[in-house]
Amino acid sequence: MAQGIPDEVMMNDTLIKELADVAKDAALLQGVLMRIQETPNSSELVTYAPFTLFPTPVPKAVFLQALAVQTHYNTLVDKISQDTDFLEEALSSTIAVDDFTARLFKLHQQILKEGRSQSIVLGLNRSDYMLDQRDDGSSSLKQIEINTFAASFGGLSSRTPDVHRHVLKVAGRLEESQNILDNNPAAGLARAVAKAWELYGSERAVVMFLVEESQRNIFDQRYIESELWKRYCGRGAVLEETSQQLYDGQEVAVVYFRNGYMPQNYISEQTWDARLLMERSLAVKCPDISTHLAGTKKVQQVLTRPGVLEKFFPDQPQVVEQIRATFAGLYTLDMGDKTVTMALEEPDRYVLKPQREGGGNNIYGSEICQVLQGVKGSTERMAYILMDKIHPAPVQNYLLRRDAPLQLNNCLSELGVFGTYVRQGKDMVMNECVGHLLRTKSSEHSDGGVAAGVAVLDNPLLI
Ligand code: ADP
Ligand code: MG
Ligand code: MG
Repeated sequence: MAQGIPDEVMMNDTLIKELADVAKDAALLQGVLMRIQETPNSSELVTYAPFTLFPTPVPKAVFLQALAVQTHYNTLVDKISQDTDFLEEALSSTIAVDDFTARLFKLHQQILKEGRSQSIVLGLNRSDYMLDQRDDGSSSLKQIEINTFAASFGGLSSRTPDVHRHVLKVAGRLEESQNILDNNPAAGLARAVAKAWELYGSERAVVMFLVEESQRNIFDQRYIESELWKRYCGRGAVLEETSQQLYDGQEVAVVYFRNGYMPQNYISEQTWDARLLMERSLAVKCPDISTHLAGTKKVQQVLTRPGVLEKFFPDQPQVVEQIRATFAGLYTLDMGDKTVTMALEEPDRYVLKPQREGGGNNIYGSEICQVLQGVKGSTERMAYILMDKIHPAPVQNYLLRRDAPLQLNNCLSELGVFGTYVRQGKDMVMNECVGHLLRTKSSEHSDGGVAAGVAVLDNPLLI
């Protein structure tokens, strides 16, 4: 591990086995928990959420760059969500061929026609990056995507620093242990939810967490809920419900969606009706339908066109520059087959992305050719965007996962930064960067995602 954990530790099998046991107990002790796959809706049996044995070295300058740009990304997402013409133009080709995005867009149009019911907007997002390795060995921060809907692991990542600190201490690496940063996205996310609740202005009203049918990752949102109870108790109630029922008999001030970003979440027309009902309601939606659309990969691609960022920040060239510096190459498939040809020639240089979330949807390598051959010459190709593949420097680490063998892996990491904002009418009342998330996966896997079972939780060790 370059400037990280020395080989004498990394390669000492006896020590590694001992540390793995220590690490798992530390994770359980700190509450880095997940329900088990077999019983995702019961807390009778829980296990540690998968995580790395050691933290991963991350260059300090790049880490700080990611934190520094976050409030600008918050502003950008919020501006996009208010720019109806931009959203319509950016998404017009996608909605012509992608049914799910089209359905969301239709809902958006309906809400605009009826008039927005609520002028308070709550944004909880996470901008994800990988560090692209340059030829000179330095790395450059490249955004993978921004999640405006159900960005998770702000809870569990508030608890992982103490786990790695402890492991490093036991390993005799006191200095590294002291370099693990504090992190508390849960508190920041809760602060924004509470602010939205307060502005809503009804003592009786509650915050509703709209949760998934299968709730393996429940402890992640419990931390946010717990922060709300702890710090804002007496100023309102917190509760949660499943996707099927709207909470009965209580006024809802804030709906926090942790469910509803995948087509599979909309199992019936009633589910779409429920989404519409919530969008129409007076509740503050996190996210509202416009902010949901602002987080699509198609919008991400359109933002890289010349002049688009300038339109959103007309008098702030330094903000434009800061945001643009994090853009990877993104290409439209709308303009004939030019991009298709480019990707077919060198598929390993790119990632092909449909408008989907949650991991496991992107297309890599030779499969890009298969898919593109199939949609070449047809408008179906417009459902995708093409992106330069980012190549982070691999780092060796052990991934701790229930029932998985303990082995040294070549790993790639993805850094996420949590941003929150609350807007009331024209006033940005709150705009913050509230913490980070490092996820690490074996380099064998192209795609990522902790919930998808590929990546595991990690901490940056600043170097
Ligand atoms: P999702 O919304 O499903 O999380 P992402 O765009 O984040 O979609 O892609 C999922 C995973 O695929 C990422 O976590 C990352 O591991 C990998 N990935 C995505 N884009 C790239 C890229 N441009 N270069 C390298 N890996 C990528
Ligand atoms: Mg992602
Ligand atoms: Mg995503």
